[in-house]
Amino acid sequence: MEQEINASTLILSCGDITKESTDAIVNAANSGLVGGGGVDGAIHRAGGPEIMQQCRKIGGCPTGKAVITTAGNLKAKYVIHTVGPRYYDGTGKEAALLKSAYHESLKLASTKHLKSIAFPAISTGAYGYPIHEAARIALQTTIEYLKEHQDIQLVRFVLYDHTSYDIFTKELEILLSF
Ligand code: ADP
Repeated sequence: MEQEINASTLILSCGDITKESTDAIVNAANSGLVGGGGVDGAIHRAGGPEIMQQCRKIGGCPTGKAVITTAGNLKAKYVIHTVGPRYYDGTGKEAALLKSAYHESLKLASTKHLKSIAFPAISTGAYGYPIHEAARIALQTTIEYLKEHQDIQLVRFVLYDHTSYDIFTKELEILLSF
């Protein structure tokens, strides 16, 4: 699914984010930046050791913030590592922190003058964030950002499975209907 938002294009697709050739791909990292399973493991495996070398130098990233490294051997130029919240029961700061993870990643892309960025569904794997709510926050935050900033031309969500893709599509349709 593809949608024009102001001067930018928002695309939902299904696949492996390590194959993306956007200027940056976003990693759903942990606060130690020490690597892990899921999309984090896939990015380090495909990108090679240079990414981890730079992560070690940076030393860590608080939840809701973002940092940037090389993309090593990947087609993308940079990896933006952001740390989404672990989901407990939704009564804490989960929603604000997830929103912040997307917003800080987009801000960092703007600061670096990047024109395109690809996101996975942050926090929806090992961190257990309910996917419908996570999709709504991801899309809402991105749409708000693109309405206020004209510099990023393309934001792509790369969903790993069809169920996530269908949920993101449905949530985007709902948001656009308002
Ligand atoms: P978190 O700890 O933030 O939940 P995970 O990596 O466990 O991070 O999961 C985040 C999302 O990334 C999940 O929806 C998972 O299916 C998806 N994912 C895993 N591998 C990839 C990949 N190679 N490309 C895109 N998405 C992926």
